[in-house]
Amino acid sequence: MRLFDCHVHTNHSLDARYPMERQLAAAQAAGLDGIAITDHADIDFYEPHRVRPRMEADVAEMREKRAAWEGRLELILGVEIGQALYGPELAQGIVDRGGYDFVIGAVHSVRGIGGFYAMDMEQSGPEQVHDFLAAYFRDVEETVRTTDFDTLAHLTYPLRYIRQAVAFPVDYLPFEREIRRIMKILAGEGKAYELNMKPYQPGDEAWTQEEEWLLSIFRAEGGERVTLGTDAHTPEKVGYGLQAGLTMLKHTGFDGYTIYRQRRPCPVEGER
Ligand SMILES: [Zn+2]
Ligand SMILES: [Zn+2]
Repeated sequence: MRLFDCHVHTNHSLDARYPMERQLAAAQAAGLDGIAITDHADIDFYEPHRVRPRMEADVAEMREKRAAWEGRLELILGVEIGQALYGPELAQGIVDRGGYDFVIGAVHSVRGIGGFYAMDMEQSGPEQVHDFLAAYFRDVEETVRTTDFDTLAHLTYPLRYIRQAVAFPVDYLPFEREIRRIMKILAGEGKAYELNMKPYQPGDEAWTQEEEWLLSIFRAEGGERVTLGTDAHTPEKVGYGLQAGLTMLKHTGFDGYTIYRQRRPCPVEGER
């Protein structure tokens, strides 16, 4: 099966510092057939952090690199739109102007609460964490219902931060109803669900089971398209764990995964 990493950041993202050329070279070294560069356009940061010139430089560089790397590595022009609900028109304008192949929809920050990455949760009890997550799923559902994207990024994103901060166990089981509803809307609109391999570590069965549970729900609700990406911010993470991701897809009834070209889904299936 041809192998694409469909979620990679470069120094056009505020939280990454490696140039695109390094990330493309890393993809080639990892034996990948293609890569989607998906730098951050976080709508809540867009004006205060002057993201617009970054995105324009990003698109220009992606076009140059795509031509320069032709025949060696397929480059998909992507973007990760974060928090579209903070400025739906701004978000739509970025998507329309960019001429992207592929748009990831992400929620890193919840309206009225803030960013999980910046939250001081050490003093939070189980009820507060439950409330954060309830607010998160409300924002995710509205993002899925009302904004323009191809795949829903890293649904387990808040768990990365919550589990580091609190001593009690936290999982998504109490939110199965909300998750089913989100998956059903995604599936109904023909949108994809992202299997995000960033937290992957070989042998971490609990993580694998949790992600496979979510994939199974998506499948059961009629989902047909899954995108696969590492969310790499550094060269050594480009392509890391994608084979394990393919195995997880197989376990949950997916024949392969989906890449996007000019916003159109293209299935990647079969033997490598
Ligand atoms: Zn993200
Ligand atoms: Zn990302």
